[in-house]
Amino acid sequence: MTERTLSIIKPDGVARGVMGEVIRRFESEGIRIAAMKMIHMTQAQAEGFYAVHKERPFFGSLTEFMSSGPCVVMILEGENVIAKNRELMGATNFKEAAPGTIRADFATDIEKNVVHGSDAPETAAFEMGYFFNNFEIVG
Ligand code: UDP
Repeated sequence: MTERTLSIIKPDGVARGVMGEVIRRFESEGIRIAAMKMIHMTQAQAEGFYAVHKERPFFGSLTEFMSSGPCVVMILEGENVIAKNRELMGATNFKEAAPGTIRADFATDIEKNVVHGSDAPETAAFEMGYFFNNFEIVG
């Protein structure tokens, strides 16, 4: 089934110069980039994006980190792309991420883990709508 998902290259990934490498991995898997832009979120915008985590102990630190510099936000499109992107990303904790995944290769910290990817169709719909309107998604 063709799906869409939201991907973010987080501020650590942009700062460390792995934007191109992350995008290359998506493209080499046959994933289509249906929308892409750079943004620098305010902490309030990051709080809105991560609202599901607002009770978690890492919420303040996470939203400060996500607003610390520019990110790349993308809509990825392809067969089962929600799960496929999660596979390419690897586990949240880079120490548990499978070898060859983006987080295993580039993450430095459980928080600074290079990429975000939606985890289900419902969250993908919310997250894509948070950053993109219909005119920004190319066919
Ligand atoms: N995070 C953190 N500490 C934790 C768990 C998560 O700093 O103990 C951060 C990390 O950047 C992670 C994000 O919060 O990517 C969202 O957490 P989630 O559990 O949704 O992980 P993900 O879906 O990004 O793998």
